[in-house]
Amino acid sequence: MHDLFFRFESPLEPELRAICTRLDTTPGGRRLAFLIEDPIKKWLLSCKGCGDCGIQHLAFLFPESQCSKHIRNGACGGSSNGRCQVYPDRPCVWVRVYKRLAAVGRAGDLASTFVAPRNWALNQTSSWLNFHLRRDHQSTGCDIAERCDADGGCPFRRENALPPSRRMQSHSHGGSTD
Ligand code: SF4
Repeated sequence: MHDLFFRFESPLEPELRAICTRLDTTPGGRRLAFLIEDPIKKWLLSCKGCGDCGIQHLAFLFPESQCSKHIRNGACGGSSNGRCQVYPDRPCVWVRVYKRLAAVGRAGDLASTFVAPRNWALNQTSSWLNFHLRRDHQSTGCDIAERCDADGGCPFRRENALPPSRRMQSHSHGGSTD
């Protein structure tokens, strides 16, 4: 179900993009999209409304709400016995990500690519609009990564070296788990 709505290759994508384009033409339309998306994702996924959704990279767990350091390429190195360094009473979300991926034979995904930093300009906007209108890190990731890469090399340029499963992942988006 997720792939049907959040994959550029989906047969629904032209219509979804057209709907998002119409909503995006007015502030009211953009607000409406956020007000539809936000409660659903808060309820289902503890979403924080960052507008640049990264859950598809974390086995549908949220780095913004569940990692104390909001890390998109974890773990931070401080976790101990599966617990968070900052809040030891909580599980480290990256241990949970690893376990979820390992359960379906995809633990290696964690070592095969980088996730671009989120675009803070999108904070508290609809990540659904941002995905379909190509504004989030999945469409602009290389540009975002270049701004913070001192060597001038963008890790996303190596995407052709990724296994096919990760290449497809880099073009999908998180919005729900179903
Ligand atoms: S231990 Fe895990 S959950 Fe805690 S800050 Fe580090 S990566 Fe995030």
